Amino acid sequence: ALTDRLSGVFDRLSGRGVLSEKDIDEALREVRVALLEADVALPVVREFISKAKERATGEEVIRSIRPADQVVKIIYDGLVEMLGGEAAEGLNLALNPPTVILMAGLQGSGKTTTAGKLALKLAKDRKKVLLASLDTRRPAAMEQLAMLAKQAEVDSLPIVPGQSAPDIARRAMSAAKLQGFDVVILDTAGRTTIDEAMMSEAAEIAKIASPTETLLVADSLTGQDAVRTAKAFHERLPLTGLVLTRADGDGRGGAALSMRAVTGLPIKFLGVSEKIDGLDAFDARRVAGRILGQGDVVALVEKAAQDLDVARTEAMAKKLAKGQFDLDMLAEQFGQMKRMGGMEGLMGLLPGVQKVKKQMAEANVSDKTIDRQMAIISSMTKAERKKPDILQASRKRRIAAGAGVDVAEVNRLLKQHRQMADAFKMMSRDGGKGFARMAGMLG
Ligand code: GDP
Ligand code: MG
Repeated sequence: ALTDRLSGVFDRLSGRGVLSEKDIDEALREVRVALLEADVALPVVREFISKAKERATGEEVIRSIRPADQVVKIIYDGLVEMLGGEAAEGLNLALNPPTVILMAGLQGSGKTTTAGKLALKLAKDRKKVLLASLDTRRPAAMEQLAMLAKQAEVDSLPIVPGQSAPDIARRAMSAAKLQGFDVVILDTAGRTTIDEAMMSEAAEIAKIASPTETLLVADSLTGQDAVRTAKAFHERLPLTGLVLTRADGDGRGGAALSMRAVTGLPIKFLGVSEKIDGLDAFDARRVAGRILGQGDVVALVEKAAQDLDVARTEAMAKKLAKGQFDLDMLAEQFGQMKRMGGMEGLMGLLPGVQKVKKQMAEANVSDKTIDRQMAIISSMTKAERKKPDILQASRKRRIAAGAGVDVAEVNRLLKQHRQMADAFKMMSRDGGKGFARMAGMLG
């Protein structure tokens, strides 16, 4: 597995302050192999590696976790981000029904199956759905869609032999309007390879139906071809999203990363079985884990992130025991609060800080205010963060401008920091008992 290989690279590394360029290069060589093995397209691999290098360079080495795990975490976060982040994007619905969903893609990619799956999902959401097959090439294709409509318990457009695809699209649109359908799903014919006739037909259909969603359906096992397919379709059709089928197969899902990177389009769903309910909302974390080639990578990186927090908390506890609390430490706290989704970080562990904690809660410390406060701190110089006493009016104005807030907010933050620093100083005077207790809890 990737982590094992990375451990080898990092075994020599210990006690050094930051990840060195050489270590990172060596580690990224392994990552590159992992990505290529997962069938991510070469240009996408290159781009990803150079971004990851930027991120990892100069990262502080956290002693209590293995550098290999730390790098895997950086890589994993980069993958999740490149796959579109953690929040899945669902279907867009038209303000004025009907919403039209156009299915595009190569033959055999799973368009018809996915059309049926989407119909079922929408029907469960109480939408009135019409499925229409525009596949005039394969005689069985229309029957296939009609069968799926039956399974999903939605309507399908009556089959009229001899009509062209654009004619069927027009008929579907008028049926939808006349009969008050909420959603029309247009299934198209595909070819085994991209050709001009297919592209111009798809473009004509898009013109007739002006779809709300034009989904490119692609087989997640296509590998290096994924990029070419995505590019060709994206050039000719106003695509709005991707669906990757056969995510239940043996593939490692590199196509997801390639297609997302090349088109910039959100991956909306993953096909996970042949059955009609086999459609999952896209989950970037799951796919990132799979690309890295190990089922437990998600658990691993979460553990690494936790260890990282614990290590930082321990380091901070040591400083606090000496009565030190500067603005860098406050920023670190804010970061932890955000990661932990609340006030449960160091604050929650310190018995003497209940009062400050309450004050902060009353001051309505939300993620948004935390972001602003972190922006204020990062607009300060290093010296200012260490010794906030040197902040007079002109410096405060500069910081406020840098953070895009007003001076009053800078003052509020400084006051809050002073109160916390005082509380910590008091606690360190009682012989550091509170801190000793906390260190025990963390140990
Ligand atoms: P189309 O030519 O693009 O319309 O492709 P079809 O929808 O007819 O699908 C082709 C084949 O792939 C069928 O046998 C489907 O059952 C199968 N298929 C589609 N999506 C998935 C999926 O997510 N997982 C699996 N295992 N099979 C799928
Ligand atoms: Mg089909």
